[in-house]
Amino acid sequence: CGVFGIWGHEKAAELTYYGLHSMQHRGQEGAGVVVSDGKKLKTHKGLGLVNDVFKQADFSKFFGDKAVGHVRYSTHGAKTHENVQPLVFRSQTEGMALAHNGNIMNAENLRGELEDQGSILQTSSDTEVLAHLIKRGGIDINETSIAAALNRVNGAYAFVILTEEKMYAALDPSGIRPLSIGRLGNAYVVASETCAFDQIGATFEREVLPGELVTISDEGIASTRFAMRGQRKMCAMEYVYLSRPDSDLNEVNVHASRKRMGKELAKEAPADADMVIGVPDSSISSAIGYAETSGLPYEMGIIKNRYVGRTFIQPSQELREQGVKLKLAPVRGIVAGKRIVMIDDSIVRGTTSKRIVHMLKKAGAAEVHVRIASPSIQHPCYYGIDMSTRDELIAANHSVDEISAMIGADSVAYLSETGLEKAIVRDKTIHQGVCMACMNGKYPVTEGGEQEAVYRS
Ligand code: 5GP
Ligand code: SF4
Ligand code: MG
Repeated sequence: CGVFGIWGHEKAAELTYYGLHSMQHRGQEGAGVVVSDGKKLKTHKGLGLVNDVFKQADFSKFFGDKAVGHVRYSTHGAKTHENVQPLVFRSQTEGMALAHNGNIMNAENLRGELEDQGSILQTSSDTEVLAHLIKRGGIDINETSIAAALNRVNGAYAFVILTEEKMYAALDPSGIRPLSIGRLGNAYVVASETCAFDQIGATFEREVLPGELVTISDEGIASTRFAMRGQRKMCAMEYVYLSRPDSDLNEVNVHASRKRMGKELAKEAPADADMVIGVPDSSISSAIGYAETSGLPYEMGIIKNRYVGRTFIQPSQELREQGVKLKLAPVRGIVAGKRIVMIDDSIVRGTTSKRIVHMLKKAGAAEVHVRIASPSIQHPCYYGIDMSTRDELIAANHSVDEISAMIGADSVAYLSETGLEKAIVRDKTIHQGVCMACMNGKYPVTEGGEQEAVYRS
């Protein structure tokens, strides 16, 4: 998912819309904006793409200089209108809108506890659990009640909370999900990705720190810490696949990190070939890096139909396979008779690689050597990225040679963990550690809240 918030700009709702638009890749299932004029919270949300949801929206009627927005990609909770965020809660005294990226691991336990105490939860999303915990923490919504609620939840989260009086932004103690603060004139902006700042002409100010609760109001910005800050464990898959290349996460540019992944991969796993091609879009950067280091020419061997959405975020395997077929096509004149290094960013179920190898061979490629710009994914993600269950992860159940045979490649090699870390982490201090739990099984936080456990399902 992607979250966005803005405080102190007369075009708050419209800018939120643009910000969400630039983060569309983070979720295509639903989108929403809640705007506040200091008295009332007004919501506009729906299922579908940002453009569809706001097609009829008249932003001149969205009064207010503060807003929060969300694009949704569901890992938990059904694909229904009630689960589209921001979620809005009203009490007699005030209202609150919540937008969340991540996954609360102990949501089910907390939900049970809240229901035992008489709360009635309206949605199946874990975000609502936090709202109820905040309400339980005190009559008023403030730093104290929010911090108390955050201390009960374990997992990965980047939250933006808007009340009539204040906007809050919070990040989990391991900083697994990205969340940045920017400025646009006198206004404050928060967003999952910095591409949203560029989109609206805002400038990057700083990251929200792990375990930090930031309060933004007409008095300016204030910071409190609700949890001890550990080594940052930013999701490595944000760099590998999820984020936009022009975004900087933790002050590391995504495209540049992908290029370094490709360079490391070329050193670790060279191939005798005529050219390097990347699977559009997310693997283009690493393919360029691989080509640069290997000395092989970079070619456009596959093109993408840009009117087809992300194939991964589809409900069934059947639809996913159809999706890949619609989305990608080989450039026959380039690949025919050639030995090809095909770079993809990751293999999850193996659907994409299999189809593409097949497609390239059908178009006449002599050899296809698959090189993956991340380590093999063998463990589920509990932090809000849809890696599904172990059964579906091809690398959890098969060796590299078996995978190579299954996808019909002439060879397969993955980037090492060290290589990935080297490609991402620029500054080896506390700021820039990465989570690679889906690759190495080392989970930065567990359902019970323990840090740094090796946790298997
Ligand atoms: P597979 O086809 O092996 O199941 O999935 C891997 C492919 O899906 C890659 O090409 C990757 O770019 C794309 N992809 C889409 N969404 C995701 C995601 O959430 N995680 C990962 N690792 N890959 C994804
Ligand atoms: Fe990201 Fe993998 Fe960690 Fe999930 S387990 S947060 S996908 S690195
Ligand atoms: Mg891909």
